[in-house]
Amino acid sequence: MKRGAILLVSAAAAFVLGGCAGIDVTSVATIAAKGVPKAVQASRPINDSEEYYVGRAVGARILAQQSLRQDPELTRYVNEVGQTVARKSARPQTFKGYHFAVLDTQEPNAFACPGGLILITRGLLQTCESEDELAAVLAHEVSHVANKDGINSISQARWTEVLTTMGTEAARQYAGAAGSLVSLFEGSIDDVFKTIVVSGYSRSAEEAADAAAVQTLRQAGYDPGAVASLLDKMMAKEKGAPGGMFKTHPPTADRLAKVKALVGEGKAPEKEVAARTQRFQKYKI
Ligand SMILES: [Zn+2]
Repeated sequence: MKRGAILLVSAAAAFVLGGCAGIDVTSVATIAAKGVPKAVQASRPINDSEEYYVGRAVGARILAQQSLRQDPELTRYVNEVGQTVARKSARPQTFKGYHFAVLDTQEPNAFACPGGLILITRGLLQTCESEDELAAVLAHEVSHVANKDGINSISQARWTEVLTTMGTEAARQYAGAAGSLVSLFEGSIDDVFKTIVVSGYSRSAEEAADAAAVQTLRQAGYDPGAVASLLDKMMAKEKGAPGGMFKTHPPTADRLAKVKALVGEGKAPEKEVAARTQRFQKYKI
C-alpha cells in the first residue's frame, strides 16, 4: 500500500472512531509487558483493550477496500439507531463504545468489528424498508460484538503465540513501536478479518445473533418482527446475487423459521412503526 493510501485509511478510521483517534496503540503491549507470569498469560483470554485494538485494525482493513459514505447526517442517524439498540443489548459497554458507519458499497453486507465498530453497506441500507429493519441489522451486528464472535475466531494456537511473545523481552521493545505491535497482532487480525469478511460465522453464531437481536429490539421498543421481515427480503434478493452478506450471514429458511418462532404472533404498534418509517425515508439513499 502506498503511503498516501495508508494516510487515507488512517484518516477514515479516525473519522469512524470519532473521539478515539488519540488512543495510544502501544498501551496493549505496555500493559502486557509489565511482568505478568508467563504461565498465567498463556492461558488468559483476550482483554477488552486488546479486543478494541484488533477490531480497530480489522476496521482499517475493511476501509482499505471499501470507502465510507461521506454523509454526516446519515452517519448521525445510523449512530442514533445503533446506540439505541446497543444500550439494550447484552453488552451495552465496550472498551471504547459502539460506533456505526455506512460503507459506500452496493453489495448488501454488514460487518461487526470486535470492540464495537459496526459498518453497514449502502446496499443493505437500501434493502431495509423501515427504521425497524435498520435497527434489526444493527442489533444483529451488535449481538456479534456482544457474543465476541469475531474475536473468538482467533485461533487458540495464534493467541498462545501472541501471549508467549508478550511475556518475552522482545515485547518490551514492542511497547515503543506501534509498527511492531501490528506485527505482533497481525495473525490475530487476519483470523478475524477472514471470518467477518470472507468466510462468515458459524450457523449457531448466526442463530444466536438473530435471537439476541429479537430480544434487543423488543427491549429497545422496536418491532422484533423486523428481523424476520428483513431476512425474508434477503432471501428473495439472494437468488439474483449470491456472495457478500449471503456468504457471511446466510439467510436461510431454517433461520427465518427460528426467528419467527421467537417473535410469536404479537404485532408492533402500527402508528409508532409508521412514524419511524417516515423518519427513515428521509435518509434513504
Ligand atoms: Zn451475522
